[in-house]
Amino acid sequence: MLPGLINTHHHFYQTLTRALPAALNKPLFPWLKTLYPIWAGLDESMLFTATELALSELLLSGCTTAADHHYVFPDQLTHAIDIQVDAAAQSGMRVTLTRGSMSLGVADGGLPPQSVVQQETQILEDSLRLIKRFHDPAVGSKRQIALAPCSPFSVTSELMSESAKLAQQYAVRLHTHLAETLDEEAFCLQHFGMRTVDYLEHVGWLSDHTWLAHGIHFNPEEIQRLGKAKTGICHCPSSNMVLASGICPVKDLEAAGVPVGLGVDGSASNDCSNLMMEVRQAMYLQRLKYGAEAVSHKDALGWATQARHDC
Ligand SMILES: [Zn+2]
Repeated sequence: MLPGLINTHHHFYQTLTRALPAALNKPLFPWLKTLYPIWAGLDESMLFTATELALSELLLSGCTTAADHHYVFPDQLTHAIDIQVDAAAQSGMRVTLTRGSMSLGVADGGLPPQSVVQQETQILEDSLRLIKRFHDPAVGSKRQIALAPCSPFSVTSELMSESAKLAQQYAVRLHTHLAETLDEEAFCLQHFGMRTVDYLEHVGWLSDHTWLAHGIHFNPEEIQRLGKAKTGICHCPSSNMVLASGICPVKDLEAAGVPVGLGVDGSASNDCSNLMMEVRQAMYLQRLKYGAEAVSHKDALGWATQARHDC
């Protein structure tokens, strides 16, 4: 008997753009640049179907709790999270729907095209509206809202800071992609003059209310700081292998006190939403990094259910 598995990072909308020929065999930045213009065409009916499909696949693989990171809000899809709330309610799953965002387009030195970025006032107003309308803070709640500016290369540091203030005010969690690739680290050094964890601290995010997708490229000192702050990390092994981003140092993070979870990540970099398969991938990828005797099936199931350091 196993408890329901917990998926801590996904992009439900990407179930519609899996295995796209133009995006194959590329690392993160060129892969994103290929997909952004396609994602700009998403509409409400597509997102509802994509969310239904992703939740169904998760359920079939033993997952009963899922977090989604939706950050694409073109003009025809400004109420994306409302659509996801409806689809999730039909599925019966426990969800954390994150109000993602992108505000730093190519015109201002970011990676995404202007067609998929929003004004920051609009992002913050919608974040507040969604918290007030949909966030249920009760223990065992079936629906929570979190705030999730997409990544250092697609939002400004001001939006990161303002999101942190709003999250603190309304006691909701914060989520973003961090330390996924060396390209991202170089971007942070070039644009902010600091490494990723320094940036995280600078914008007020280094806390136990934050969980991060990927968390690969940390030095030992940064791992200790993340552990001290109890900032969570979502390990996404399949996505990290598809994009050749690197290997998350899960055992080092756990030893430092970091809560570690698992995520299938979006289907554009995984091809499916099968969490039990992700448990298997995590076990073998971490075994490759740390050795056969250092990582067991119990470790991997622990990542998908409860953080091992709490056991
Ligand atoms: Zn992701």
